[in-house]
Amino acid sequence: TREIHLAQRPTGLPGPETYRFVERELRELRDGDVLVENIVLTVDPYMRPRMNDVKSYVPPFKLDHALDGGAVGVVVESRSESLPVGTVVRHGLGWREHAVLADQYATKLDLNGLPTSYFLGVLGMPGHTAYAGLFDVAAFQPGDSVFVSAAAGAVGSLVGQFARLAGAERVVGSAGSAEKVALLTDELKFDAAINYKDGDVMGQVGQAFPDGFDVYFDNVGGDHLEAALEHINERGRMALCGSISGYNDPKASGPRNMFKAVGKRLTLRGFIVSDHESLRPEFEQKVGQWLRDGDLTYNETTWNGLDAMPEAFVGLLTGANTGKAIVRLRED
Ligand code: NDP
Repeated sequence: TREIHLAQRPTGLPGPETYRFVERELRELRDGDVLVENIVLTVDPYMRPRMNDVKSYVPPFKLDHALDGGAVGVVVESRSESLPVGTVVRHGLGWREHAVLADQYATKLDLNGLPTSYFLGVLGMPGHTAYAGLFDVAAFQPGDSVFVSAAAGAVGSLVGQFARLAGAERVVGSAGSAEKVALLTDELKFDAAINYKDGDVMGQVGQAFPDGFDVYFDNVGGDHLEAALEHINERGRMALCGSISGYNDPKASGPRNMFKAVGKRLTLRGFIVSDHESLRPEFEQKVGQWLRDGDLTYNETTWNGLDAMPEAFVGLLTGANTGKAIVRLRED
């Protein structure tokens, strides 16, 4: 089987020298183990900071070891009673074609006719992040106006739609191309959208919200956070979810107007989705229902084959994806 190792820690965008493709034998199964053939793999932004040798909420990837991350696959050999051959599972050993793992580290999925990739996106970690961040961390209330950055991506596209479905007054997103802006307003039914690559994020956010907004869902940091601090209403709430504008930039700077948070009595709350496990049943039920009712527009950008992982990852970090970035190894 083949897997991808971290050969070198990147500076800036990870290039081909970052990776080593390794062919190796799978280990023998022990009692309770399953052998999974991966069907779809995910690339997610948090993987970039994990390539650096810095202390964070997840330990860094180890040099000369396989990278890991979310995956959905099918059990093809089993010594587990709970996960027989043919079971579709989600687990954490991505970046490889096959995985041998103890059954407690794999979650059985009920696909309900949905594609496997949905369980890495709208019904997986990004969907859970959008749900927990909006409803729990930012304490969204019907009638709130909401601003979300990286709004055409996996998390952001769901934040905006969840807010609309839950009764937002106004939802505006920011994204990095005219096509993405059109997608947000035309298909995802945002009230407005801005293209941050047109510049003047500060001015554009102000114009998009003549009456301010109550919630900012921050995926980007930097200039977006600065603009949000400027234009958010008094007692506004911010869910600090990510800061992708800085992930490849060692000299990234923060907002210069943090003092606004004082005068406006803002609540800024960072969060990590894994701390919101108790919300998972509600999230799966609610979002599953919205999907079945046809209320959600869900987009993916798919790369094919393990060899495409590096390209998919750079694509994710540079905005080549619309919606969830997925790498597909085989048909469902
Ligand atoms: P996305 O699908 O949103 O992909 C990343 C997007 O970021 C790209 O498509 C690109 O879109 C945008 N982007 C890249 N560089 C910049 C930049 N300099 N300024 C503005 N936008 C940029 O990824 P996810 O939805 O998976 O993740 C979104 C955010 O949520 C990330 O910050 C991630 O780290 C965070 N996250 C946090 C979690 C948590 O538990 N706290 C869990 C999951 C995700 P564009 O074309 O618009 O530039």
